[in-house]
Amino acid sequence: MTESKWRKTDTGMKKKIREMQEFFGLQVTGNLNRETLEVMKKDRCGVPDAEQFTLFPGRPRWSHNRITYRIVNYTPNLKRQETDTAIALAFKVWSDVTPLTFFRQAVGEADIMILFARANHGDFNPFDGRGGILAHAFPPGSDIGGDTHFDQDERWTLSRDGINLFLVAAHEFGHALGLGHSKDRSALMFPTYSYVNTNGFRLSADDVRGIQALYGPPEDSRQTKPQPKPPKPTKAWDRCNPQLSFDAITSLRGEVWFFKDGIVWRKHPWRTNVTSIPIKNIFPNIQSVDAAVELKDRDLAIFFKGSQYWLIRGFRTLERYPQSIRFFGFPRSVKHIDAAVYIKERKKVLFFVRGKYWSYDLRRKQMERGYPRRINDDFPGIGNKVDSAFQNSGYLYLSSGPIQYEYDYRNKRVIRVLKILSWLNCD
Ligand SMILES: [Zn+2]
Ligand SMILES: [Zn+2]
Repeated sequence: MTESKWRKTDTGMKKKIREMQEFFGLQVTGNLNRETLEVMKKDRCGVPDAEQFTLFPGRPRWSHNRITYRIVNYTPNLKRQETDTAIALAFKVWSDVTPLTFFRQAVGEADIMILFARANHGDFNPFDGRGGILAHAFPPGSDIGGDTHFDQDERWTLSRDGINLFLVAAHEFGHALGLGHSKDRSALMFPTYSYVNTNGFRLSADDVRGIQALYGPPEDSRQTKPQPKPPKPTKAWDRCNPQLSFDAITSLRGEVWFFKDGIVWRKHPWRTNVTSIPIKNIFPNIQSVDAAVELKDRDLAIFFKGSQYWLIRGFRTLERYPQSIRFFGFPRSVKHIDAAVYIKERKKVLFFVRGKYWSYDLRRKQMERGYPRRINDDFPGIGNKVDSAFQNSGYLYLSSGPIQYEYDYRNKRVIRVLKILSWLNCD
């Protein structure tokens, strides 16, 4: 009895080893050789590899496309805002290729509860200290379903040192949405952790196939007929009205664009004529614009309206926009942006909000410390409100009402006071 029982366990063990060797693309021997042990030692995800396929048994999936999440606690290794951003970007990896959208909630029970925990933490899947198992997540479902746990004992980072939170979170959210592990080494859903450049991170074709098998492609990639909306009457502003102030002004692919209510006037520097066109004729989703900024060296522009923003390339809004301006790290109290300008030399975007301004570091993808600061203190001579801002030939052009200041940012001084009208060939 005992012997047969032992043998049974033994073959069961061999079977497990064989499965694992097959899964990781190793030589299948059923014996624990060095190669197999090495894979077992690697930092990895705590979700078992038992699934042969990329989906969990029974194909659990969320039945709603609007999925909520809550970050219950934080790692001491990162600033809260860094964790918030890494988590949001990790969800975006999946929302970019599906009809799913993710919303963060601050209290109560969300679909996906995110927490950092060490050792035993109440779900019979204890963590194991630094290294080894980094995180685990539960497949979609009620209660613990979808919940995602990170091992508090890891050294979480946003770089290649330590364990990159964004990469692990993106992998775990794959599980939380219903994906199992993949045998494809290039897949995010491969079970062991290895650092890849997170800048412009993209899913492998295997990951996309997996998640789209559950949820389908994003809505806007399907052939949907645009809903004809009744045209909103736009105020017929005379661009040469001397009292006219603008909502936003930006350079865009060599032109200067002036926004007012639903209209944009476009001025090419070498041409004398100014053309006007309803914004929605160019960007059907955008009725009006509060602030606009061109990131010239990236051939991108950002348009802001209320608490949303769109990323623009050429005359198209990119997929998955609008997004919330909180992505940039604004507090909840900021509901709209007055003006934005790109300081190309420093790779920074300045955002003007009422009497203050913020500085966003494009390289580090975060708001700079010490902001917001008072406009009065850092831009002497322009007052404390900026309606529009853009850069042209090395100077900033900051407007307040119909007045525009030509400003030398490096030397912090006003060069000239202009009327915006002088751009618009009014005399
Ligand atoms: Zn995993
Ligand atoms: Zn757990």
